[in-house]
Amino acid sequence: MKVIIDNGHGADTPGKCSPDGTFREATYTRRLAAAIVRQLAGYGIESHMLVPESGDVPLRERVRRANALCRREPCVLLSLHVNAAGNSGWHSARGFSAWVAPGASETSRRLAAALSSGAAAIGYSGNRSSPPCGYWTGNFAILRDTLCPAVLSENMFMDNVADLAFLKSPRSVEILAALHAKVLAEIIPDI
Ligand SMILES: [Zn+2]
Repeated sequence: MKVIIDNGHGADTPGKCSPDGTFREATYTRRLAAAIVRQLAGYGIESHMLVPESGDVPLRERVRRANALCRREPCVLLSLHVNAAGNSGWHSARGFSAWVAPGASETSRRLAAALSSGAAAIGYSGNRSSPPCGYWTGNFAILRDTLCPAVLSENMFMDNVADLAFLKSPRSVEILAALHAKVLAEIIPDI
C-alpha cells in the first residue's frame, strides 16, 4: 500500500497566504508533505509525492497522475491544505479538519474520522461545530475523481491569529506530520 501525497497548491497559486503575507500555504504544505513522507518511512510505509515540481499543476493533471498510480498498485491519497475562513482579514475559525468526497468509500471515511479524532486527542480540533461523524464532506476533484481511498486535511487556519502562531512555531510541522503518519500506519494494515 502506497500513500500518494498531494501538497495542495503550487508556489504560483494566487492568494493562499496569511492576511499579513508572512505565511504561504504552498510552502507549508510542501514542508508538511516532506515530513509525512519521512515519518511514514519510519513505519515502513512507502509514499509518493504527487507534485514534485514547485509550480502549479492543474487538478486534472494531479487526478490523472494519482489514477495512473492507483491502477498499478493499491494506494491511498492524502491531500494537504491549510484552511482560510475568508479572502482577507483575520477570522475566528480555527483548528484541524478532515474531508471526504460525497459518496466516499468506507476506507476514506474511516481515515477521515481517525484523522479528526487524532487531532482532537492532541487538542487541535478547533472551535467549529463539526458534523457528528467528526469529518466534513466536500466536492473536491482530488477526492471525487481519484480511484483510491482519498482524504483531504485542512491543517489549521492561516487567517486565525492563534493558528498562524502555531503554524509558524518550530514544532508544528512535526506535530501535524506525526498525526497523519500515525493514523495512516494504524489504518493501512486493515485496508
Ligand atoms: Zn488549499
